[in-house]
Amino acid sequence: MTTYNFCAGPAMLPAEVMQQAQAEFINWQQHGCSVMELSHRSKAFMAVAEQAEQDLRDLLCIPDHYKVLFMHGGGRGQFSAVPLNLLSQTGEADYLVSGSWSQAAAEEAAKFGRIRSLDIRQRVGELRSLQHPSEWALNPKADYVHFCPNETVDGLEFTDLPDTEVPLVADLSSTILSRPIDVSRFGLIYAGAQKNIGPSGLTLVIVREDLLERAANKAIPAIMDYALTAKNDSMFNTPPTFAWYLAGLVFQWLKQQGGLDAMAKHNQTKAERLYQYIDRSAFYRNDVDPAVRSWMNVPFMLADDALNDRFVKEAEVAGLLALKGHRLVGGMRASIYNAMPLAGVDALIAFMQDFERSHG
Ligand code: PMP
Repeated sequence: MTTYNFCAGPAMLPAEVMQQAQAEFINWQQHGCSVMELSHRSKAFMAVAEQAEQDLRDLLCIPDHYKVLFMHGGGRGQFSAVPLNLLSQTGEADYLVSGSWSQAAAEEAAKFGRIRSLDIRQRVGELRSLQHPSEWALNPKADYVHFCPNETVDGLEFTDLPDTEVPLVADLSSTILSRPIDVSRFGLIYAGAQKNIGPSGLTLVIVREDLLERAANKAIPAIMDYALTAKNDSMFNTPPTFAWYLAGLVFQWLKQQGGLDAMAKHNQTKAERLYQYIDRSAFYRNDVDPAVRSWMNVPFMLADDALNDRFVKEAEVAGLLALKGHRLVGGMRASIYNAMPLAGVDALIAFMQDFERSHG
């Protein structure tokens, strides 16, 4: 039976990538050992590391004056690293709160500086939505403004950028590489790997070079220090080598798929098909304003919450894994990142139709 994994993260990875990793797992490129058994300073691993960075640069068209850092600590590690490294002159930063992850980022940052949380959530009738960017009252003296373009739990995504001269810092953990972005508009981008990049344990940071030396605080833990990490090509301490290698395979796979323009089409098609089905059904419901619905994480409710457990169990039997919604939102959530094929979304819709027929 074909299975499809709808987990929000660690998430499904492309089958071709997993097959390649499996084929070369024990004896990588005739080295007589696994890539995960190589020194991170060996020529062979350095070549893997450099190729992965180059492929990422090609995919996202990263300008030369940006550094790419391969770090530890996940998204939450960056919730601390960002204020530690970027709070400088004023010690003030703005955090746009669009859902639970941006809120968590703001709470962590508040340990380190004067953080202003701007709650940009609003209701439009029954729907969860976001304020128009013109209503975001930003501090022009802030050291940076932080936001999360895709809220993994809430299922909200926005592509508008804050209109300000201060550096933009974005948590792209659950949307990076799902569509093209203009990196030059950002001061810093970060993303935990475990959704659209590779296995957990690796965290990507893309940072404009002039932001590397901003920190007012000189007591930054070494493994969170952007300048130190950049100076050492992300090898000040031992990086997560296997995750870095696997991310490299994913980047090559993305290139083979046609890059991020192709990914955007693929992701839009999947998301539209699923939302359209939900909207037409009287049994399922998504309560996010269509203007800010996520392409990556699709929460939906059943007409009767008492059927939730049964839905999850029967879906698993049908090969559709990890559809239980986040405890903060309830209901179901289908995460449909890059690696989810259209066939997976079609299988989900077919299952939802069957379930409605037998329980509706
Ligand atoms: N930011 C976002 C948008 C996320 O989705 C997550 C994890 N789901 C995090 C941050 C936290 O990431 P981690 O568990 O890697 O710390």
